[in-house]
Amino acid sequence: MYTIDLTGKTGLVMGVANQRSLAWAIAQPLTQAGVKLAYSYQGERLRPTLEQLTEGQDALLVPCDVTDDGDLDALFAAVGERFGRLDYLVHALAFAPAVTFEEPFIETARDHWRLALDVSAYSLVATAKRAAPLMSAGAGILTLSYLAAERVVPHYNVMGVAKAALEASVRYLAFDLGPRGIRVNALSAGPARTVAARSIAGFGDMYGATGRQSMLHRNIENEEVGSFGFALLADSLSGGITGETVYVDAGFHAIGMFLPPRPA
Ligand code: NAP
Repeated sequence: MYTIDLTGKTGLVMGVANQRSLAWAIAQPLTQAGVKLAYSYQGERLRPTLEQLTEGQDALLVPCDVTDDGDLDALFAAVGERFGRLDYLVHALAFAPAVTFEEPFIETARDHWRLALDVSAYSLVATAKRAAPLMSAGAGILTLSYLAAERVVPHYNVMGVAKAALEASVRYLAFDLGPRGIRVNALSAGPARTVAARSIAGFGDMYGATGRQSMLHRNIENEEVGSFGFALLADSLSGGITGETVYVDAGFHAIGMFLPPRPA
């Protein structure tokens, strides 16, 4: 068996709401490889869940609303104080007001655009800026994206625009941090039944259609996001990849046309 020992490495995982969160799926192989993790959560209501999930791990838990620069400063000060360095950053969070998933894109309000782009895209820049001083060559930053960045996916609307900004930000951050040996990548996941996804209008229909129409004729498992997220972070597995968006979506993104199934 190919095992990877990352004992002595440290990481910050942002965006665990519960055990179904994609951030939690990526935290699992990191923990199993020996990485010491800190977690940030948006509001105090999430702290008991995180305490329960990380029981016995001596994990650092820090509140952080990514729209608040003071929260971000305090988060990275706490991480620096606890670890003195940072090897891995997992950025797995996004938000757009519920109405933006229901109304036509053309109706997007300016303040909804600002909020969606702030939480879902600018936050990667704001966190990378604060993480980089704690990082050295071999460190990795990973964010999570979705196909709606590149193609029109009904209902995603301004979140698709935010994911496009996120993927472009990955490339610019990778360019800035590349000379220091720090890699930045995005994992574009197929639909997964998380709290954020379930709040999107029509998600159930889209989940079903993706499962039927993907190349593998199924949806992805959270564990598949976890293991490939781990691979994108670990320098020994993906050291030559940076500025990239990689799909873990059972091949759905590469299909150009859907036809009715052939009769058996
Ligand atoms: P999730 O479990 O609901 O996680 C989303 C997290 O974002 C939650 O912890 C949420 O906190 C946090 N968040 C929202 N606004 C925030 C803010 N202002 N400050 C700090 N944290 C904030 O859902 P998920 O599906 O795993 O989402 C993780 C990432 O994967 C997102 O970027 C999402 O777009 C991406 N993704 C998901 C899918 C999918 O189908 N699930 C597919 C592709 C990509 P609260 O719970 O407090 O709001």
